[in-house]
Amino acid sequence: MNKQSFEALSAGTLPHRLGSNAVLKEKIGDDFTRWSVREVGDGNLNLVFIVTGAKGAAIVKQALPYVRLVGESWPLPLKRSFFEYHALVRQGARDPGMVPEIFFFDAGQAIIVMEYLTPHVILRRALIDGRQLPKIGRDLGLFVARTLFRGSDLCMVTRDKKTDMALFADNIELCDITENLVFSDPYFEAEMNRHTSPQLDPLVAELRADRDLKVEAQRLKHLFSAKAETLCHGDLHTGSIMVTDDETRVIDPEFAFYGPISFDIGMLLANFWMSYFSQTGHESAPGARDAMRTYLLDTIETIWETFRVEFANLWRSEREGILYQASLFENRGDPLGAEQALNIVLNEIYHEMLGFAGIEIHRRILGLAHNADFESITDPGRRATCESKALKLGRHLAVNRHRIPSLKDIRATAERLQ
Ligand code: ADP
Ligand code: MG
Ligand code: MG
Ligand code: MG
Repeated sequence: MNKQSFEALSAGTLPHRLGSNAVLKEKIGDDFTRWSVREVGDGNLNLVFIVTGAKGAAIVKQALPYVRLVGESWPLPLKRSFFEYHALVRQGARDPGMVPEIFFFDAGQAIIVMEYLTPHVILRRALIDGRQLPKIGRDLGLFVARTLFRGSDLCMVTRDKKTDMALFADNIELCDITENLVFSDPYFEAEMNRHTSPQLDPLVAELRADRDLKVEAQRLKHLFSAKAETLCHGDLHTGSIMVTDDETRVIDPEFAFYGPISFDIGMLLANFWMSYFSQTGHESAPGARDAMRTYLLDTIETIWETFRVEFANLWRSEREGILYQASLFENRGDPLGAEQALNIVLNEIYHEMLGFAGIEIHRRILGLAHNADFESITDPGRRATCESKALKLGRHLAVNRHRIPSLKDIRATAERLQ
């Protein structure tokens, strides 16, 4: 099949196309005529099917040569499937059990067959419904610490890291989407932008005239494009996380690229702050979601605190790369020297992360790809009230990121805005 030209799957053709594959027969069932196929893709870019048979089930994800959300007028290369596959393999090795198991990959057809996560639901959906998931703060904090530390020059053999950077450097088109849609389009009247209008018009005009904000957005874009520290997931929002009360899984790393350690964490926390401000739009009566709001701010602090502690553990136990070598510190009887460096590195990650969070909030309200937290608030006046608070926090995070002392300080700001 590799040699054949690309052909999009459909629920009708999938069993015939994949039915002779030994791995799938093993997972789903030998007789493909008895497979049942359901398309579930709710994402912006790709096709996703659940395939069920006598033995079990699997997910079949296929990239299309264009952006699904927009159509064939916006071509996007199939090779994003290759980067998603390679990122899943690396994340699975760096934080075992946190990404779906991969059963099969076909680069030519841009098909990844993977473990069907059930009864997991998308975290964003659960948060909109007001569900408090007890384990996500810790699971996600560990995930970002392990994947980002273990993919960096702090841990990797330099030849392996440079070879891997070369492999992922070709994910040009997906980086280009982030560079434009996230870091630039929200800050001018770009064609594909939209926002809740006219309610947000005055605030949007103010943000687009805000020189300090635009300078910060471009500094952060500079970091995104030039600071190739580690293999980032690249699209780590609450729509890329699937949960039960006991389990947390991360999916959809097709935007994977070598970038700043702070990027994934900032994007992740931004989505919790947006969930926080969107709760007013979903509560049945004023105050009904107070406990949920507290839970969301607590979860933000748990993610960061868990990241910090695990990153420090890995710093002390797996710092085997080219940076801050033990030969300069611990081996010369100066463990405090390594601790000093650790604090500097964590501090830098913290201040960058706040900036990325601010920009991510803006682009989800002003750019092309909005999120369901706000979009599912049907009354535009009510939606705009939530969105404007989030926009203000985003501006504060992006512009004042070097001066914000702690997440406790941001909690106070968020509660004041709310
Ligand atoms: P896209 O890249 O188009 O955003 P995703 O990988 O996010 O695609 O998948 C789209 C949707 O398909 C997810 O929101 C989820 O509902 C479902 N899905 C994807 N992967 C799995 C999986 N391994 N198990 C269960 N459902 C999945
Ligand atoms: Mg997705
Ligand atoms: Mg998704
Ligand atoms: Mg995706």
